[in-house]
Amino acid sequence: MRLAVCSPRSCGRHPRLLIKKFLKSLIPTGRPNRDQPTAPRVLSAEEHGLQVSSVSKGARKVADTLTDAGFSAELVGGCVRDLLLGERPKDFDVVTSASPEEVRQVFPRSRMVGRRFRIVHVRMGREMIEVSTYRAGRDGDSKIGDDARSRSGRILRDNVFGTREQDVFRRDFTANALYYDIGSNSLIDYVDGFSDIKSRRLRFIGDPSTRINEDPVRMLRAVRFKAKLDMELDPDLEALCRDQAYLLRQVPPARLFDEVLKLFHSGHGVTTFRLLREFGLFAELFPEAERSYGESDLNPERGLVLQGLENTDRRITNRKPVIAAFLFSCIFWRVVRSQCDRQEGKRKNNPQVLQRIALEVLGRENQRVMIPRRVSTVVVEIWDLQSRLESRRPRTIQRLLENRRFRAAYDFLLLRSTAGEVSSHLGQWWTEIQECDEAQRQAMIKGLDGPSAPGKRRRRPRRARSGNGNVG
Ligand code: ATP
Ligand code: MG
Repeated sequence: MRLAVCSPRSCGRHPRLLIKKFLKSLIPTGRPNRDQPTAPRVLSAEEHGLQVSSVSKGARKVADTLTDAGFSAELVGGCVRDLLLGERPKDFDVVTSASPEEVRQVFPRSRMVGRRFRIVHVRMGREMIEVSTYRAGRDGDSKIGDDARSRSGRILRDNVFGTREQDVFRRDFTANALYYDIGSNSLIDYVDGFSDIKSRRLRFIGDPSTRINEDPVRMLRAVRFKAKLDMELDPDLEALCRDQAYLLRQVPPARLFDEVLKLFHSGHGVTTFRLLREFGLFAELFPEAERSYGESDLNPERGLVLQGLENTDRRITNRKPVIAAFLFSCIFWRVVRSQCDRQEGKRKNNPQVLQRIALEVLGRENQRVMIPRRVSTVVVEIWDLQSRLESRRPRTIQRLLENRRFRAAYDFLLLRSTAGEVSSHLGQWWTEIQECDEAQRQAMIKGLDGPSAPGKRRRRPRRARSGNGNVG
């Protein structure tokens, strides 16, 4: 039947593929269709194996309260996926038939947020539960009006409310489209997401190319889930991403900043970095950085970027705090350093020159990924402290140790030492001075004071400024 409506010639696809698809459609699989609304498969507790007790108290309370108020409410998305994979969910999202205004009425102390999606944040003790309303609209769907799409088809606003049957088809992957009804302890599956999760397959709902076109961030999400959950991707997805990576240029840079943090602060930064580069996505996010890397930067044992990411992954695994500025310091250091190295003579190591170059590089990058000022300021501070950590002027040591960026700058120095940019003794010296007692510290500082001490400078008489106002 499908062959009759879409002949190989008319739809331009390979006849073998169409015949395969046709033959496949004749085999009764008993599986729900991934592309169109059909009756869902409802899995009982014995079939899905989830336990209501594994859901956070707050999420349970929110879902129960909404159900008691006469609405339907389920858990959806990453939390259901992660529970089925035996992972600990990062957060719990609830989806409901109640409109955002109705949710607010049920939870008067909640807050409405979001521009692209209007969602409600409900606080339950220390937990924050995100509640969204079922939404309709996808692909060529007329429910998403032209004013809510860009000319290329990208969805700009998506606040058309709908039913659960419609809501499922606007979600990105089958694994992210399972609804867990905790009242009946059943799992509602419209798109065969359960078996995809069990076989660790990440599959787009609908045509991947169209879904990427609607929202190019989905390429980044695919990489994130593959790296974090070790899921297998559609075999053609890598090629598709390479072809469509340029679409990321249409995504607001502030949204990309959030996505980049999710990508690299997932505890799987090293794998993510490798995948992003393989898929041609890194070059779209960080074009100058990508061009600046040489073989040594990407060396797994010594390369500064990979070492930095590994460091961050380790901290996340050990539940230690991480800062965005450290990540961007690693990503852009080679760009900034090589531009400094191209300066003449003393300007190479002039802190003001470094600052100017740093601000220019980060400023250009903001056209792709908007690094907020509060982050870029710290990035520049970390880089700026490097020359001071290297020169170890005795009178500045105590102040440096008390500097609020010392820890990040010191960690960065250690990376540079692993990368062979500075001697390992320097890193060791800074490690020791933090660990020793006051008397030993004074002795170490005194030890720097010899005639050949590093950073010991003879004062030169000041010369009059030449007066053109340039730094350096
Ligand atoms: P995690 O929270 O672990 O990072 P997640 O899948 O829960 O992963 P969220 O950003 O919290 O990611 O989104 C919740 C759900 O909303 C997703 O599981 C998916 O169903 C849907 N969703 C999020 N972003 C998109 C998108 N860009 N396109 C389509 N659906 C999306
Ligand atoms: Mg989530």
